[in-house]
Amino acid sequence: MKTGKLIVLTGPSGVGKGTLVKSILKRHRELYLSVSVTTRLPREGEIEGQHYYFVSRSRFEEMVEAGELAEWAEFAGNFYGTPYFSIQQGISEGKWVILEIELEGARQIRNKFPEALRVFILPPSWEELERRLRSRGQDSESAISRRLLRAKEEIEAAAEFDFQVINDDLEVALQRLESLLFATVES
Ligand code: 5GP
Repeated sequence: MKTGKLIVLTGPSGVGKGTLVKSILKRHRELYLSVSVTTRLPREGEIEGQHYYFVSRSRFEEMVEAGELAEWAEFAGNFYGTPYFSIQQGISEGKWVILEIELEGARQIRNKFPEALRVFILPPSWEELERRLRSRGQDSESAISRRLLRAKEEIEAAAEFDFQVINDDLEVALQRLESLLFATVES
């Protein structure tokens, strides 16, 4: 894989990575979001093959065994992973591939593809993160607690990343992300 074509976006659950990614994809046709596999159940409105490939735990284990995943991790009781074929799909379309993944996976990608650009998305404050996680109303209380616990660990590792972007105002965060991607990837 060529230098600079892989972009890793990480940040705690509820920080708004999904919205940021959606907006940046709309603006830049040359970007491609890799679709992950997960053992999590689909949320309302999530579409197979678009948001995730939803698989059973045994299918996920098979993919791990067969070496089909570029990285994988357990997150809040479910497994998530990036299939090589998803990365390849973007590359074959001549695009820059974005992986929107959690911390453990981002570390695995750093080891496998050290040239990948890694960006960490931070919330404006801890209170705001908690408020966002609760207000999206998608997860049970126990899932929210697990996600908050994990968020603490992730935020503590933010300095491991090449850049940090605070997602306070969406437009400001988007512009910063764009300037990082295009200044860094194009050079
Ligand atoms: P959610 O359940 O909210 O869709 O995702 C939970 C967490 O899993 C998020 O932090 C998301 O970035 C991460 N995630 C999604 N896909 C992958 C993946 O393929 N690999 C890893 N390591 N994390 C992922």
